Amino acid sequence: MNIADFKGVWVFAEQREGELQKVSLELLGEGRRIADELGVELTALLLGHNISDLAETLGNHGADKVIVCDHKDLEHYTTDGYTKVICDLAKERKPGILFVGATFIGRDLGPRVAARLETGLTADCTQLAVEVENGDLLATRPAFGGNLMATIACPDHRPQMATVRPGVFSKIDERKPNLEIENVEVKLADSDIRTKVVEIVKETKDVVDISEANFLVAGGRGVGSKENFDKLQELADVLGGAVAASRGAIDKGWVERDYQVGQTGKTVRPNIYIACGISGAIQHTAGMQESDMIIAINKDETAPIMKLADYAIVGDVNKVLPEMIAQFKAAKN
Ligand SMILES: Cc1cc2nc3c(=O)[nH]c(=O)nc-3n(C[C@H](O)[C@H](O)[C@H](O)COP(=O)(O)OP(=O)(O)OC[C@H]3O[C@@H](n4cnc5c(N)ncnc54)[C@H](O)[C@@H]3O)c2cc1C
Repeated sequence: MNIADFKGVWVFAEQREGELQKVSLELLGEGRRIADELGVELTALLLGHNISDLAETLGNHGADKVIVCDHKDLEHYTTDGYTKVICDLAKERKPGILFVGATFIGRDLGPRVAARLETGLTADCTQLAVEVENGDLLATRPAFGGNLMATIACPDHRPQMATVRPGVFSKIDERKPNLEIENVEVKLADSDIRTKVVEIVKETKDVVDISEANFLVAGGRGVGSKENFDKLQELADVLGGAVAASRGAIDKGWVERDYQVGQTGKTVRPNIYIACGISGAIQHTAGMQESDMIIAINKDETAPIMKLADYAIVGDVNKVLPEMIAQFKAAKN
């Protein structure tokens, strides 16, 4: 493999039922920064069926070029179909870097593509950088249970691959003057896809996406009980936000797992994050430290979250919260 032949940054633009996943736009934002640093093109890779109108959206978020692979067999995600199309293109066009969102689909697709292309993949990265001299990607991710950060490079193989979870990077609104949209002919035979999507059954439960909320009121073990979470919900309602939780509270069964913030939960960056009775373990803060403003309520002034917080309130959360709710209500009126 001649490393010098591999150029450009590619982002897998994941769509489901014609809706782009927000992590793909966030990856375009970070991909733009990296492509500019390397002086190369940023390409979005769009696979699906009847999805070509999404190419313009990708162009509005930083891509120089969009490669559209439209085929009826790509309508629903299959590991075989998507892997084959991406690998065929990567072998032919030789990108230097390929980013994939760490969604359920991305976590399935990324490793398969990496194995097929005989290259390396760093999963769940929280930071990305490049060495301009040689084009090496430096992908940083938490390791050993979040106790240290490991920076991983893949100097001998290309494309260098990384998956990134939603919410880690910010999307940008930037339109390149000469956006290029290329429709490629997809060659897929029936024998290429060994599985068949028979039916899609959607979960009907009503889950608020905490990574989209501007205000989050998050509770930990210090909240004390499931019933006490009602006060967090009340504050969230006053602020027009949502409730989230630490794994401590989730393991107690007080809150559902969809609302977990942290290394094994979601990454959030709201305008205001109110941490109630949360100690601030590194696995938790990894998912919320980029919030614009952090307010912590804890009865222990030495808890790690208090150092991270912009405002630290020392006290019993179940006494502080009713007071905060009353004051916010009064201020609103
Ligand atoms: C591999 C791995 C992955 C993990 N992933 C995650 C993750 O994604 N997210 C996550 O959150 N954790 C994660 N954890 C767990 C993490 O290490 C902590 O155990 C967890 O975050 C602790 O939750 P907590 O802060 O709610 O509880 P605790 O650490 O028990 O803290 C409770 C806090 O509440 C305070 N308190 C108690 N009573 C009151 C009161 N009445 N008023 C005010 N304050 C009070 C205490 O002073 C204390 O600071 C992970 C751990 C591992 C090993």
